[in-house]
Amino acid sequence: MRAKFEENYLKCPTSRGGRKLDETRDKYGKACRRLHRAHNEYVLLLAEATECERALRTAALPALLDQQRRLGEAMASSWKGILVEVAQRSDFGTEKFKEIQNKIESTVQNLRPQEEYKEFIDKYRSPPSTPVSFNFDESLVEDTSGKLQPNQLTVDNLTVEWLKEKLTELETTLQDNREKQTALQGPEIIGNGVCKNNSTGMTNGVNGIDRHSPPPIPVTTAEPVKLLELRVSERKCARQAEMIRSALAELGCEEAPSGCPDLSAETVGVDSLDGSSPDHQDRSSLGSKTSMDALRLHLHSIVPPKPFFRIFTRPFRRKSVPSSPALPPKTYRSSSEGPSDSVSVSETERSLVDQEWFHGVLPREEVVRLLRADGDYLVRETTRNHARQLVLSVCWGQHKHFIVQTTPEGHYRFEGAAFPSVAELIAWQRASGVPVTARSGALLRRAVPRETWELNNDHVQLLDKIGRGNFGDVYKARLLPTGQEVAVKTCRVALPEDQKRTFLQEGRILKQYSHPNIVRLIGIAVQKQPIMIVMELVPGGSLLTFLRTRASNLTSRTLLAMCRDAAAGMRYLESKNCIHRDLAARNCLVGDDNIVKISDFGMSREEEEYIVSGGMKQIPIKWTAPEALNFGKYTSLCDVWSYGVLMWEIFSKGDTPYAGMSNSRAREKIDNGYRMPAPESCIEDVYALMLRCWEYEPEKRPHFHQIYTIIDNIYNR
Ligand code: ADP
Repeated sequence: MRAKFEENYLKCPTSRGGRKLDETRDKYGKACRRLHRAHNEYVLLLAEATECERALRTAALPALLDQQRRLGEAMASSWKGILVEVAQRSDFGTEKFKEIQNKIESTVQNLRPQEEYKEFIDKYRSPPSTPVSFNFDESLVEDTSGKLQPNQLTVDNLTVEWLKEKLTELETTLQDNREKQTALQGPEIIGNGVCKNNSTGMTNGVNGIDRHSPPPIPVTTAEPVKLLELRVSERKCARQAEMIRSALAELGCEEAPSGCPDLSAETVGVDSLDGSSPDHQDRSSLGSKTSMDALRLHLHSIVPPKPFFRIFTRPFRRKSVPSSPALPPKTYRSSSEGPSDSVSVSETERSLVDQEWFHGVLPREEVVRLLRADGDYLVRETTRNHARQLVLSVCWGQHKHFIVQTTPEGHYRFEGAAFPSVAELIAWQRASGVPVTARSGALLRRAVPRETWELNNDHVQLLDKIGRGNFGDVYKARLLPTGQEVAVKTCRVALPEDQKRTFLQEGRILKQYSHPNIVRLIGIAVQKQPIMIVMELVPGGSLLTFLRTRASNLTSRTLLAMCRDAAAGMRYLESKNCIHRDLAARNCLVGDDNIVKISDFGMSREEEEYIVSGGMKQIPIKWTAPEALNFGKYTSLCDVWSYGVLMWEIFSKGDTPYAGMSNSRAREKIDNGYRMPAPESCIEDVYALMLRCWEYEPEKRPHFHQIYTIIDNIYNR
């Protein structure tokens, strides 16, 4: 799966957001999860086997031997009793019988059962045996890039929850087991399962018993086998629980590391944004130099050059974190200030949002891209099992993520002192020079501020609702620091986390583009819910509505100019290997002077070719090329087909394509060669171009640069 993922990653230079890549990444992630769990199961089973073997050697076998001895002893005693009785009752009165009786009596009296079995154990015990060791087969983890260590539990984001569940399960079994033992053994057993009246002396002389060996089996009780089983099971569970506990304890307050490398900056090492090379690079263990270079190139193509975002002149800079030592913890906790009184949640959050290093729910891929040198840090927010968590991300050798711990008093800490607010905690952590955790050694040196495109939610003032998107409403809004009017797409708070990521995906794609015919991204606001994508406000709104409402004022020349704008935008996208996949009049916007801008990148993919595998839901059938509908195969030439339909919509001034036909009927007719007739008053050359866009074979369709030239020629004629 990793090989497939890497292959996909390398294949498509700008494909990090691609669906195909997403799918292989997803499969790779799942495979990693299965592998890591299987690994942990294996490690725990080895421990279990070791315990079973030791129990057999040190408890079961000695107990068996001892049982034999006792049986022999008991039999001898019984026989003695029988013979005594026989002797006592056999008085036949005669001298001869008296003589016989005396003989019998003295012989019987001379029977010594204990003496008979004194040598029993020494005589019959098994020869000394060497403990069997159960070794981890190291070859199994050879190609896991060090993620899995022989015979060591793996604690990462793929396994941490599983380990915690397993621990709870083991603890419950242990408790249950102890109760059963107590019930079986009654007062003979003390709490920890040790036999109080251990008088058998069984361990003496038994080979291989160490001080950790289980207590001897109380063979006189009614259910020795059951007890033995319980003891062995207790030992197994206790050992496994201990292994898990210490593995989890090692993690401390660190967020479980990623178990599935993402080929992101976290593993690849990214040059600085403007292309200069920082000395902090190449942490990857993946790939050859060539593939590394290719990967770095990918990342460069994903990471936008800084000046692009300078359009928005840093209005949100805050004072930086003080470099002078912060006050010690006690200063923050005067006796009159109870923590819960002095710092309410909202106050804490407000001060947090004001910190330049607080990045809200910024996706981890972006976080990792921002932290480049040792000591770089930022704070972000994540949700785990529906609970909100604050995470300190630090670059220290690699990217480390520490969960901010909350004390019962509502204070915040890592391993050291606790503070009433996260801002104070971070300030102290930095000024004191104390590592965040002793294990990580990570020091805070440079707070990484929000980038200009990471907007503060409080700076976005929503005004009027202007549209409704797939994920939430779209608003006209004002950016408070500058007063600039913008359009804001909001994401419904209740949507699950993966949908929110998908929502932000549009922002990540748009972030890279700068073209007058592509709607411009201003930023994303992810510090609070609802998360938002902030874009330039395109005053004319949706092209479809515009065409329908202004039909009478639109000349052929204006319509042609609109087609040319759309072609220019699409030519730009094609050059960036971006397939829009949802090009239609409803997804274009109209700006001043009727300029058309391509918008709605919710379905876009940055790939040369994109194959849909998991079913085709919500496909705009009447705009989609046959090869995409029939085989799920998308390329820019599919966008060309949609562009033909867009031209048709423009020249018919907002009519519905294939009017009166259902989706399936339209699809069927197209497959049989049907094409829409030219809209009324559409000039011949334009219709001819539409027909070329609707060529059944994609290779026969023109590319966008050709389309642009054709339209420009018609326009200038
Ligand atoms: P989604 O991608 O979630 O479906 P859309 O991009 O289709 O959302 O936006 C829904 C509507 O919001 C559009 O039809 C348009 O009317 C309006 N809209 C979206 N973006 C802008 C913008 N940048 N400027 C003006 N109006 C916009």
